[in-house]
Amino acid sequence: MTPPMRLVDPFARAITYLRVSVTDRCDFRCVYCMSEHMEFLPKKELLTLEELDRLCSAFIGLGVKKLRITGGEPLVRKGIMTFFRAMARHLDRGALEELTLTTNGSQLGRFARDLADCGVRRVNVSLDTLQAGKFARITRWGRLAQVMEGIEAATAAGLAVKINTVALRGVNDDEIHDLAAWCGRRGFDLTFIEVMPMGDLGNEDRLEQYYSLKDLRRDLETRWTLADTTERTGGPARYVRVAETGGRIGFITPLTHNFCESCNRVRLTCTGQLFMCLGQEDEADLRAPLRAHPGDDAPLTAAITAAIARKPKGHDFDYSRQTVSGQVSRHMSHTGG
Ligand code: SAM
Ligand code: SF4
Repeated sequence: MTPPMRLVDPFARAITYLRVSVTDRCDFRCVYCMSEHMEFLPKKELLTLEELDRLCSAFIGLGVKKLRITGGEPLVRKGIMTFFRAMARHLDRGALEELTLTTNGSQLGRFARDLADCGVRRVNVSLDTLQAGKFARITRWGRLAQVMEGIEAATAAGLAVKINTVALRGVNDDEIHDLAAWCGRRGFDLTFIEVMPMGDLGNEDRLEQYYSLKDLRRDLETRWTLADTTERTGGPARYVRVAETGGRIGFITPLTHNFCESCNRVRLTCTGQLFMCLGQEDEADLRAPLRAHPGDDAPLTAAITAAIARKPKGHDFDYSRQTVSGQVSRHMSHTGG
């Protein structure tokens, strides 16, 4: 019997985690992610739902065990539940261990139940503030009440919720205790993320808003007792346990802490480009072999394997000299966060 195929990169890291952006569109315009008047890709550039299915299935055939669906806002993609239902078959047969998504939460009221029916067990909801006015300023087009309803719907459907918060100095640094208390009460994990220099959104602002998680953690410790844990959830976050709430807080620190050595992931854009590293420009076009050979996955599999052989050791983001270097020009909504 031939052993199952695995994807292993040049640094002996097994690639078992695929993040897939299913759309570049979004119903919000978060200031650190998109400009107000974004131009989105023409529809024909996007992978169809069938193509997304074929591509993800090819990765699962190559040993990917965890699939995270993201965007843009994944739940605004038309017909997205068809895709989730298609992926559920890989969960059912045990080839896939986890199907999950990162969402702004706005559409969870509509879809939480269906997602749970498709085998989704956890959702990451991005939420930077608990204040309605501030929420509207950060997301430009979002309404906090709708996201809160979405979170309720997710909880009611039995989904575990993790809150992702981008730490922004002068914006939400006054709310870290409220967020910790709220998540602790609700039983939600909370993960803080450092703002990253993505896209062409004016990085002077990003630099000014940069709130290192080292500082954030120290600030949290003025109120909470944090104990380091060795827990990892397969991602780059490092976790602490909060003694007062029993909750967990994670820190994703791409800029102050290098987590690349344990990287097990690659990212697929909604146009079928595979990025082997979030912080590097190198990519592989998987849409061409996919479209050129509709009935034959061998060229696609070969393209995936060749791309993984080029996965770099790590990224080069650095704010340390008070300038943003290692910046990449694409938007988070394109690569899928
Ligand atoms: N729309 C979904 C959402 O907001 O969760 C999924 C896509 S969004 C691009 C994924 C994650 O990237 C979100 O948690 C968002 O806060 C984060 N993000 C976007 N731009 C960022 C930036 N410049 N730095 C750090 N995180 C960013
Ligand atoms: Fe949309 Fe998510 Fe980007 Fe906000 S962070 S604009 S919700 S894709």
